[in-house]
Amino acid sequence: MNVRVNHPPTKEMQALDAAHHMHPFTDGDALAERGVRVITGAKGVMLTDSEGVQILDGMAGLWCCNIGYGRRELADAAHQQMQQLPYYNTFFMTSHPPVIALSTKIAELAPDHMNHVFYASGGSDANDTNIRLVRHYWAAKGKPDKTVIISRKNAYHGSTMGGASLGGMKPMHKQGGLPIPDIVHIDQPNWWAEGGDLSPEEFGLERARQLEAKIAELGENRVAAFIAEPVQGAGGVIIPPDSYWPEIQRICDAHEILLIADEVITGFGRTGRMFASETYGIRPDIITIAKGLSSGYAPIGGSILSDEVAQTINAGGEFYHGYTYSGHPVACAVALENLRILVEEGIVDRVREDIGPYMAELWRTLTDHPLVGEAKMVGLMGSIALTPDKTRRAKFAAEEGKVGLRCRERCFANNLVMRHVGDRMVIAPPLVITRHEVDILIERARRALDETYDGLKADGMLVAAD
Ligand SMILES: *Cc1c(COP(=O)(O)O)cnc(C)c1O
Repeated sequence: MNVRVNHPPTKEMQALDAAHHMHPFTDGDALAERGVRVITGAKGVMLTDSEGVQILDGMAGLWCCNIGYGRRELADAAHQQMQQLPYYNTFFMTSHPPVIALSTKIAELAPDHMNHVFYASGGSDANDTNIRLVRHYWAAKGKPDKTVIISRKNAYHGSTMGGASLGGMKPMHKQGGLPIPDIVHIDQPNWWAEGGDLSPEEFGLERARQLEAKIAELGENRVAAFIAEPVQGAGGVIIPPDSYWPEIQRICDAHEILLIADEVITGFGRTGRMFASETYGIRPDIITIAKGLSSGYAPIGGSILSDEVAQTINAGGEFYHGYTYSGHPVACAVALENLRILVEEGIVDRVREDIGPYMAELWRTLTDHPLVGEAKMVGLMGSIALTPDKTRRAKFAAEEGKVGLRCRERCFANNLVMRHVGDRMVIAPPLVITRHEVDILIERARRALDETYDGLKADGMLVAAD
């Protein structure tokens, strides 16, 4: 069945959008001036806009549409659940079948020692839960001074007061007086930008050991947890050196602190395993989930807790925390169906064994382009570093992000959604992308890079900062 929805002309929608819709992470006036692109439909990896143009979505929406667009089964699951029980809460000694089934399924898919789920509506509020949870956990263990959470610069953990505080994005901190107290940041394992003369492996160790130094500085009796994305997503798909995570795990084990893996992007197959914690061999106490949990078909997130953390919380009296939509029945039913498809269709194994390696190989060929310094990929998330001089890993003389934005615009003009983070380009297509579609993606990326290069040359911008 073809779903057709009539809509007003593009110009009219653009005007109404500018008049009434406030966009997240957007310069409102700048957007109003150029006009939004209105997306009206999607199927597989392809978006359709209000002019009928087809765009290849290299970002799976916002890193979430793992099983691709247009899966009728999820619509049916939502439809049925809305008729059966559209809403009920889980606060007052009640539960319902979808939240029970989903929790059981997540426990089955998560690492063996993790069998408990606390729900939120997305990743930000799940991380807010984590802040309260780890502090409550230590208080329940008789160590109420362990309140500090160590995070990393250029991390992204969401946009609420708590999430943005955990995150290490300076422009976000500037707006609204963040971070909130007792959250501190160490440096990120971004070898390309910050590795200097160290080898990636030396650099990975050096950055991991900043955690140990920070714990020593604060005192172990003050530190509750370390939080990190296994692979930084919004920070530019920063794939850490292989030496990084084993050293982090060693430090968390040696000192009494909890490890929170924010797998909002990396969870549910993105790196070729159900969780990136498996890919990197880490053993977290808490995993943050959202995005791929429902492939974005319904808003749902949460925290997966280790047995030990869950038992301590459960034994610690009432945990005064929860959201009206924690474990929302419709969102749970949709997520459950999404996970069924992810597992039964072998989508994660295919990322690891087939389409991931296929795309990674083509992705790496982009380094032969004069603008591309490094091109890295894990599973189906990757990035390229744009540079005017790859031998020096140089930055552009132009303000950071100017060149990236130009490249993103050339991608858009070539009907490819690829995002820029500063002067890095990032990619994370739906996990169901075919080889043929990967070929198209690479071809469009290459064309966009060529056009970016020509534009920079014409404008005299192929200049390195010194
Ligand atoms: C997107 C994201 C979040 C925030 O999730 P929302 O659903 O937008 O609140 C948190 N952590 C990471 C790693 C993310 O990528």
